[in-house]
Amino acid sequence: MADAEIRPTSGTDATEGRERDEHAGDEHHVVILGAGFAGMTTARRLARTAERDRLRITIVDRHNYHTFHPLLYQVATAGLEPHSVGRSVRGAFRRSPVRFCLGAVVEVDWDRRRVVLDTEQELAFDTLVVAVGSSSADYGIEGVAEHTFPLKSLPEASRLRNHVLRQFEAANTAAAQPDEATLTVVVAGGGPTGVELAGALAELVDRVVQNDRPDLDLSRRRIVLVEMLDSLLPPYREAQREHTRKALEARGVEVRLGTAIERVEADRVLLSDGDELATRTVVWTAGVRAHPLGDQLGVEQTKGGRVVVAPDLRIPDRHGAFVAGDLAGATDRDGELLPQLAAVAIQQGRHVADQIVRRRRGLATQRFRYRDKGTMATIGRRDAVAELPLGVQLRGLPARVAWLALHLFQLIGFRNRASVLLDWTYNYLTYDKAARLILEQQESDEAEQLSQRPG
Ligand SMILES: Cc1cc2nc3c(=O)[nH]c(=O)nc-3n(C[C@H](O)[C@H](O)[C@H](O)COP(=O)(O)OP(=O)(O)OC[C@H]3O[C@@H](n4cnc5c(N)ncnc54)[C@H](O)[C@@H]3O)c2cc1C
Repeated sequence: MADAEIRPTSGTDATEGRERDEHAGDEHHVVILGAGFAGMTTARRLARTAERDRLRITIVDRHNYHTFHPLLYQVATAGLEPHSVGRSVRGAFRRSPVRFCLGAVVEVDWDRRRVVLDTEQELAFDTLVVAVGSSSADYGIEGVAEHTFPLKSLPEASRLRNHVLRQFEAANTAAAQPDEATLTVVVAGGGPTGVELAGALAELVDRVVQNDRPDLDLSRRRIVLVEMLDSLLPPYREAQREHTRKALEARGVEVRLGTAIERVEADRVLLSDGDELATRTVVWTAGVRAHPLGDQLGVEQTKGGRVVVAPDLRIPDRHGAFVAGDLAGATDRDGELLPQLAAVAIQQGRHVADQIVRRRRGLATQRFRYRDKGTMATIGRRDAVAELPLGVQLRGLPARVAWLALHLFQLIGFRNRASVLLDWTYNYLTYDKAARLILEQQESDEAEQLSQRPG
């Protein structure tokens, strides 16, 4: 069994909107489900006052590492190694009272106040924080689940990288030039992930693969970005969206707007305009839905499966339970659901920790308010778009520099920062991608079982 014990340590009472911990003198067990942006932030913040507030903190995850999603596309395009964007959870909490428990949550038993894991362990909780994130949505489109590459986890990013690199190894003599399906990559979804991936794929093929394989005629390579709406990056302003489209097209990416994917097969994609593309590589970044655990909680859900929460992020009628991150159906002042972004998850993680402490100290909980600090998307090695507070818009190199600095700052762990900085510098100076080994299963296993090394 992991470090956490199976023992309820106290009870809690709920008063609508003003829950208070009535057993503030006893040790209080907080169980956090998910070591993502929200869960890690909650745990780290609670750890600061664990002793004073007599908190026992356990964080549970199905992986033993935290994933930094914004850089997954760089793993998929051979710019970074998987271990650079994953951080061992035990390593992160090495000098902290937070305990880690490896296992996938399969059930929350509200009556017994226990969490059931796939390892058949059960964890009793006084306060529960559900922060298991989101998953890909295929919207019922035929062939998406079977024939596309999702990009939500490290093993998926490694798998995509192996597949793309292998495509260009398939033709191993000048006489055997690759066919159209080998040379065509389709990226579904014109949001930030689709844009970043399409730009990085173009650089990988044109600068790296072409250098490696001068014997191949890559002039017929196609990278097609398919977006159902009439523009890329829907939340961005018109000028930024246009800049993004033109910048991608200048890199040889075909941008197909107002076009939906109707069906995916093993070696082709059918589009809503009747066109079909021969391809064996379709990357699915087009849909996000709340984590399926949300469906099993027996609580009210929003469209897209998110959990309806009270203004302070509690689950109504489930005392001592909070939701944070992509799974939380929190809304802004206009009643619109907040975007599923790392920045929202981090702020919610912090807020939930503060509310747990407030309850321990007999104070009423507070409403969550999201502070929008802007969004960014990178397009290529010297180009990005950024929308910052007070209407500030950046494009090109300044946006790219801001993007690099922010992502480096947000990464958890000194070793991750150092290794990402080194790889970025190497890639930038040499026009090379250091991480282009095809390691197949071994690579995925490595990503799954990131070592527990500290630092
Ligand atoms: C490819 C990609 C790129 C992105 N880029 C950006 C970006 O540039 N900027 C930005 O702001 N946002 C970005 N996002 C969105 C951002 O990553 C999410 O909004 C954020 O991760 C949500 O945080 P979270 O804590 O709710 O969930 P997550 O960070 O996804 O963490 C959930 C955790 O729960 C664990 N888990 C899941 N199921 C179980 C289970 N049953 N049992 C135990 N543990 C479980 C997972 O392993 C994971 O560690 C990106 C997302 C993706 C997929």
